Amino acid sequence: MTVSSVSRALSTSSVATSFAPYASSLGVSTSKLTKSLLASIVTLILMGEGVSFAYAAQPDAAKLAAGVEQKVIDWRRDLHQHPELSNREFRTSKIIEKHLKSLGLEVQTGIAHTGVVAILKGGKLKGGKLGPLIALRADMDALPVTEVVDLPFASKATDTYRGQTVGVMHACGHDTHVAMLMGVAENLVKVKDSLAGDVMFIFQPAEEGAPDGEEGGAELMLKQGLFAKRKPDQVFGMHVTSSMPSGMIGVRSGPAMASEDSFTIKVKGRQTHGSRPWNGVDPIVAAAQIITNVQTIVSRQVDITKAPAVVSFGAVNGGIRSNIIPDEVELIGTIRTFDQPMRADIKVRLAEIAELSAKTLGATATTEIHQGYPVVVNNPELVANMRPALASVVGDKMLIEPGLITGAEDFSFYALESPGMFFFLGVTPKGTDPETAASNHSPAFYVDESALKIGVEAMTKVALTTLKAQ
Ligand SMILES: [Zn+2]
Ligand SMILES: [Zn+2]
Repeated sequence: MTVSSVSRALSTSSVATSFAPYASSLGVSTSKLTKSLLASIVTLILMGEGVSFAYAAQPDAAKLAAGVEQKVIDWRRDLHQHPELSNREFRTSKIIEKHLKSLGLEVQTGIAHTGVVAILKGGKLKGGKLGPLIALRADMDALPVTEVVDLPFASKATDTYRGQTVGVMHACGHDTHVAMLMGVAENLVKVKDSLAGDVMFIFQPAEEGAPDGEEGGAELMLKQGLFAKRKPDQVFGMHVTSSMPSGMIGVRSGPAMASEDSFTIKVKGRQTHGSRPWNGVDPIVAAAQIITNVQTIVSRQVDITKAPAVVSFGAVNGGIRSNIIPDEVELIGTIRTFDQPMRADIKVRLAEIAELSAKTLGATATTEIHQGYPVVVNNPELVANMRPALASVVGDKMLIEPGLITGAEDFSFYALESPGMFFFLGVTPKGTDPETAASNHSPAFYVDESALKIGVEAMTKVALTTLKAQ
């Protein structure tokens, strides 16, 4: 029997009303007595049903979130002022480790370079049977962006990126993700006796992509055995966004964020004098044909009623002066899809078009695909189950289903392993239009900190709902 059916049965039965006269004669309010009576009955029934821990009333996520709000803001400001690039999150990692250890959790560090993972053991089921395990993930890295926001805790940090000295800024808001998950961990430790299962806290480096020549992020964490011992039954992630007003939550069922793969096409011709093109093979004209023909992949070849797709060129490099036809031209670009078969299909078509277009002009083209992140697919059943929990935090009007996002997220790797849900938290302050607010990755990206309490409450609520005693 579930808790909800117990409460439902009791609240409509005569138990409550039949005690009313006794309660009033004792000077105790009926509702108070009814509540405590119900709680003890629920506890007794649950103990008989196989849950070995005493089930307290469901903890109040709003109260818990309010209790850690100031700490979360303080942590976030400190992290914001000391941002670190992907795979270089050393200081951040230490702060997380210290906090999680202070909560008495088992902590593992150094996974995927600077990742930190902790397990919170909740209540066990009768006979020592493990309850479900859920994973909550926050990413830790900052970006090579120079902050222009005028804040007392604005970042002045610099680092070296691709051989250049760059400013470093939490321009994607991962500082808030770390701070909020530290707050959620503290809350869940406080109420661990109410959890019918365990929680894995994943603090993940390098979501924005590992430096050239390095591995990193979710893929490396999994490769290093993050889920090898025990695969979570569900995995959750949250991301702040400028495109929604502060405190709004957005979650989409099914495909939510695009797959991302980049490509390099090398077009080889034969160098010659610009005045005598017939003596060589012109890779510039071949590259132009390739660029034009590739446009037909999305416009003519894939079924756009099934899912949209994007193929964009980002750079065309070749040649040195006006009267030399060069030997080679290099094209680079990106592919975004929302469907795994379409993702594979576009890669094949791209390489074929490049090769055959070049061939018609006597040139050759070789295509190299650099595998990026898969599509973020939110498990529809999980989203349907979590929606009421999220609505209870922000209200129906502030819970939306956003459109598809052509940006990518390596949360997708976790969601390929276990049913996953990735949701968004608006952070654009009142009075600023989210449509025109400086977006994530902008040097002017700004977070309204009052949203952080809502983020903590939402994630706490998701955990409490998923690990509610049955
Ligand atoms: Zn980002
Ligand atoms: Zn991000």
